[in-house]
Amino acid sequence: MSDVDLTSEQYEKCREAGEILAEVRDEAAEKVEVGVSHLDVAEWAEDRIRELGGEPAFPVNISIDEEAAHATPSIDDDSTFGEDMVNLDIGVHVDGWLADTAVTVDLSGHDELTAASAEALDAAIEAVEPGVETGEIGAEIEDVIEGYGFNPVVNLTGHGLGHWEQHTTPNIPNRAVSQSETLEVGDVVAIEPFATDGGGKVSEGQDEEIFALDSEGSVRDRSARQALNQIVEDFKTLPFATRWLDVSRSKMALRRLKRQGIVHGYPVLKEEDGCLVSQKEHTIIVTEDGCEVTTRSR
Ligand code: MN
Ligand code: MN
Repeated sequence: MSDVDLTSEQYEKCREAGEILAEVRDEAAEKVEVGVSHLDVAEWAEDRIRELGGEPAFPVNISIDEEAAHATPSIDDDSTFGEDMVNLDIGVHVDGWLADTAVTVDLSGHDELTAASAEALDAAIEAVEPGVETGEIGAEIEDVIEGYGFNPVVNLTGHGLGHWEQHTTPNIPNRAVSQSETLEVGDVVAIEPFATDGGGKVSEGQDEEIFALDSEGSVRDRSARQALNQIVEDFKTLPFATRWLDVSRSKMALRRLKRQGIVHGYPVLKEEDGCLVSQKEHTIIVTEDGCEVTTRSR
């Protein structure tokens, strides 16, 4: 038996974050339709999280077609959904305890590709138990996605979730790997298979709307200093969007902070062949006899 207390306050806060997130994800997914604005959906979801008593753990990611991750609307973004493959990736924290989830809302008629990542996630969750190797989970994901005739995105992985930390060890690969770690009771982990009809690798694009603090430093510029104060106070080391900053000339402020090595950006990640990407993600807590999915629909 493990001596981890899964009823402790930290796990209760993880569950609360997951419950809020499941509701917001399902409601936000309903809003994704042809002609609806990306910015409206992102801001609606972020406001709804706060209404329900959580905080966004990172900006709502809205990734379209070949985009796999790290896309969020800018404040003046006027793009609307077309007949797209839309990945919604949303996070909630309660006092820094996190939940992370994603779903593909497919408006493009690629049912099989959407099903591949969803079924891969089910298989991965089924495989979770104390002592399981993360490489075995990756093998389950790879098998399901290849069974559909698609490829997993191999250079994106699931991850542990820490206090105020969105990405910690262990990594959960999306393919069989020989070097892996084992999961233990009490681990809080996000599993996120990505499936593509392309080669299965993503690389960094040009756009960058999401940032996170690296290390504090002193800045002379007034708006950069105000931005840094807000980042340290409100977001700590969690990712934030340019549009979340309450300072004038926020883009300029971020450029300065980035040049000084105080923040780093998350460029949009795109499938290298320009092919479609579907994604599904849940957060789980490893238990004695398997796992508990904190972000399951209620
Ligand atoms: Mn996510
Ligand atoms: Mn994640």
